[in-house]
Amino acid sequence: MADTKNIIELVNVSKSYDNNTEVIKDINLEIKAGEFVTLLGPSGCGKTTILRMIGGFDSPTTGRILLDGNDISPLTPDKRPVNTVFQKYALFPHLNVYDNIAFGLNLKGMGRAECEEKVKKVLDIVDLEGFEQRSIDTLSGGQQQRIAIARAIVNEPKVLLLDEPLSALDYKMRKEMQLELKNMHKLLGITFIFVTHDQEEALTMSDKIVVLADGMIQQVGTPEDIYNEPANVFVADFIGESNIFNGTMLEDKKASFADAIFQTVDDYPRGTKIDAVIRPEDVDIVKPGEGQLTGEVTSVDFKGTFYVTFVQCGQYEMEVHCFELHREKEKVGLLVEPDMIHIIRYDMTLNHYEGKITGVYEKIVEIRFADAVINMPVKSVCEGKYSISDGKLYDKDKNEVDTDELVLDVSFDPAKAQLSDNAKEGLVTGVITSFYYIGDHYSYTVRSQNDIDYVVDDEYLWNQGDKVGIIIPRHAIRVS
Ligand code: ADP
Repeated sequence: MADTKNIIELVNVSKSYDNNTEVIKDINLEIKAGEFVTLLGPSGCGKTTILRMIGGFDSPTTGRILLDGNDISPLTPDKRPVNTVFQKYALFPHLNVYDNIAFGLNLKGMGRAECEEKVKKVLDIVDLEGFEQRSIDTLSGGQQQRIAIARAIVNEPKVLLLDEPLSALDYKMRKEMQLELKNMHKLLGITFIFVTHDQEEALTMSDKIVVLADGMIQQVGTPEDIYNEPANVFVADFIGESNIFNGTMLEDKKASFADAIFQTVDDYPRGTKIDAVIRPEDVDIVKPGEGQLTGEVTSVDFKGTFYVTFVQCGQYEMEVHCFELHREKEKVGLLVEPDMIHIIRYDMTLNHYEGKITGVYEKIVEIRFADAVINMPVKSVCEGKYSISDGKLYDKDKNEVDTDELVLDVSFDPAKAQLSDNAKEGLVTGVITSFYYIGDHYSYTVRSQNDIDYVVDDEYLWNQGDKVGIIIPRHAIRVS
């Protein structure tokens, strides 16, 4: 069981590779001694990079990594009390099980008797007693992975790093190994830092989950916290199934979304823009008129213990997991209890960029922001605070404004922008890096060549990796 002492601390850690793109962005993380911590996130979000920095195979560009309170940057991997188990187990095929496990101990010059005792002990822990003389190629994938774990724990590290160690195993073997790894963790009492992109694996195994996206921590919490109280829409969408709707708070504990009004337990001031997250298992199908929503069943899929039932309510779609069978085209009501609605305050920093005035013409200013250059009527800049005379910009008090000094906040509403497959049509172009379904539309994140992200709502389904233009009408752009 974890105690309260931090064994590992990441303090303002960032990492850039040669091409200068920052793959880890100012991460702070505390890991307690004895914890089973999982780094969870989609491929490419930086999980392995964090593990490699803790192991000493890579170093942070800025920031510090502490072990028991001391900076470990001067220590090479072999001097750190840390061992790693990799996805590809990398055992020596020409050595038997004993020699594979004892390899590191032999290098240290440990005596035969002590070595044999340690190997026997770790073989017990990984449940392969008596396998010492077996050759590696007679073992199954699961057994080879257990030998790889035995080889790592025989050094008695304080921290065991596990980089997707189960992903090469088939489904059944992976499930078994998940339980065994948990048992090993209990038995050893050391800290496990486990990397996976599989949310189910993370929820089953961990004391603490660190959800990452794009080199940044999205949320740290117990599996229950992460599932029940997702900190943002990314976490809600990535962990489990979610219905997500854009909406507005009408007053404390009352929200409007999906064209209906819902009592909530979260209170935010009137007018606050929100995303409402509802898990499919938290929706009850009732008689039409008895719930907040009324709709028609559009599809039903049996999953062994429950039915995945989709209900169309006007333009909004709700996924429901229920135990009763409903028929397609059946008219139903949907009831959601207040404590089953999780309200997330809408991220007001989305689509906000720093802008500069780069040209002043008759009634028009040229503004550069992010990847774009736009011409805006001067009267729509900063609520009409400025005017133009003789190609110069003046403020309300008729003082000339030095445009080099002026920093603008340029923003646009995701709902008013649009995607186009003709990149030339867009104000900016980029590649879709992620998207969510939000009740009646998709929310896309598009990344430009300069690594700037834009969020755009679109009713059509595009794919991750699609190259798109973003059409941002001038009236959708706010300059303040
Ligand atoms: P994950 O483990 O979450 O899949 P990684 O930590 O492997 O992600 O990678 C994070 C990002 O860093 C990716 O965009 C990857 O392409 C990049 N990256 C990883 N290693 C290098 C490297 N040696 N040089 C340049 N970029 C790298």
